[in-house]
Amino acid sequence: MKWFSRRRRLPHLGRYPMEQVARVDRPTTRIDDAAVPRVPFRANFFSRAAHGDLGDRVAEEIKRFNTKTPLSLVLRNFAATHPPFQDGETATETAPLTDDPQKNAEHVKSLLYFLGADIIGICEAPAYAWYSHDADGAPVEPRHRYAIVMAIDQGFDTMDAANGNDWVSSGQSQRAYLMGSTFTIVAADYIRQLGFGARAHTNADSEVLHLPLALLAGIGELSRIGEVIINPFLGPRFKTAVITTDLPLAVDKPIDFGLQDFCAKCRKCARECPCAAISYGDKIMFNGYEMWKPDAENCVKYRISNPGGTSCGRCMKVCPFNKEGLVQHRIGLWAAIHLPWTRRLLIWLDDALGYGQRNDLKKWWRDLELVNGVLQIARKVNRRGLKRNKADREEHKIAIYPAEVNPPADASGAVPVDRIKALEDGLNAEPPQH
Ligand code: SF4
Ligand code: SF4
Repeated sequence: MKWFSRRRRLPHLGRYPMEQVARVDRPTTRIDDAAVPRVPFRANFFSRAAHGDLGDRVAEEIKRFNTKTPLSLVLRNFAATHPPFQDGETATETAPLTDDPQKNAEHVKSLLYFLGADIIGICEAPAYAWYSHDADGAPVEPRHRYAIVMAIDQGFDTMDAANGNDWVSSGQSQRAYLMGSTFTIVAADYIRQLGFGARAHTNADSEVLHLPLALLAGIGELSRIGEVIINPFLGPRFKTAVITTDLPLAVDKPIDFGLQDFCAKCRKCARECPCAAISYGDKIMFNGYEMWKPDAENCVKYRISNPGGTSCGRCMKVCPFNKEGLVQHRIGLWAAIHLPWTRRLLIWLDDALGYGQRNDLKKWWRDLELVNGVLQIARKVNRRGLKRNKADREEHKIAIYPAEVNPPADASGAVPVDRIKALEDGLNAEPPQH
C-alpha cells in the first residue's frame, strides 16, 4: 500500500505528510512584531563565549569544543570551506516560467527534496529575522523578501544510541549542518541562475536568525526547550538551513499540533538537562517572543565545556517527540495531536517504555578525544540514564539577557555578562498575559 500512495505523492510535498498538519495564521506562541529588536551576531552566546564574555576557561575551550573528536572535526572542517559559495552573481536575464509564485514554490521545494532536505517551509522574512550586524560588526541590510527554510534530520538511529551529550553529539549536529549547507548552496545558486538574488544562510555563516523563520514557515512550534522548534514528525531532532531570495514564492503558514499544551504538561527535557538550563515554570515574554526562556548562558557553557562528550543535545534525545514514525509512534503522535486528554498518559508511557534511554545495540562511533593534538580514549563518557525518580518539578532560576544588555555589535574585547542581574531579570520577567 505504501508504494502505491508514494507513487502518487507530488514531489513538492516531500515524504512527511506536513500538508495534513493544521495551519494557523500566526505562530502558536505570540510574537509582538513591533517589539522584536534586531540583534547583532555578537550577542549570540557562542560568539560571546569566543570573545571571552563567559570567562577565560570557556574562551579557551570553545577553540576545540566541536573539533575534539575526529568525526565532528572532519565534518566541521569541510563545512568551514562553504561560506565563499553561499552567495554569488545573479544571472542578468530572468529565466522563463518564473512568474507564478505557487509554481516557483513547488519547484524549489521539489529541488530541495531531490537534493535531500527532510522538511521545507517558506515564509516572508520580517526585518527582525535579519541580524542587525554580522560577525565582523558590519551592518546587515535585509535584502530579500522570502525565506526558504529547510530542516535536516540529525538521524534517529544514532540519536537512539546516543546519550545526547556523549562523544557523537557534535558529530550529529555537524553532519546535519554540512548537509543543510550543501543543499542550500546548490539551490541558492540554481535560483541565481534563474535570474533572482538568493543567498544561503548556514551554521558557518548566516545573516538571519533561523528560529523566527522556521516558526513562520511552519516547520514547527516553539517548545519548552526554549529556543528550539519541534516538528511533529522529526521532533526537535533537526538542524535548519535557510535561503533568502527575491524569487516570487507562495508562502506557507505556521502550524499547530497542540505542542503548547503538551509541553505545559511534560517537563522531561527540563528534568534531564544536565545543567538546569530549561525552565520548569511558565512562559514569559522575551524580546517580543512568548517562550519558555532557557538559560542560554548555562546551556552554551555546558556545551562548550562538557567533559564527558562533545557539545550536547540531551533535551532533543529525551523529548517524547523524538521518534521515527514507526506504526506505534504514528498512533501515539496522532493521539497527542487529536486527543488532548491522552497527553499526560503518553508522557508517562514515554518514560515507562524507556524512551530517552541509550540503545547500546546501535552504538557505532568510538569515544575518542583529541587532547593536545593526540587522539586518545576519551577521559570521561557521559552515560547517565533517565532521572525517572526525580521530582517532576524542581524549581531553579533562569538567567535571561534581553536585547538591552547585549554587547555592542563591534565589541572586539570581552564584555563580561552580569549573571546576578540576569537572574533578577529572569525572576521579574513579564508573563505573556501582561
Ligand atoms: S543542549 Fe544540553 S545543556 Fe542545552 S538545554 Fe539541551 S540538554 Fe540542556
Ligand atoms: S521533552 Fe516534553 S516539555 Fe520538553 S520539549 Fe519535549 S514535549 Fe516539550
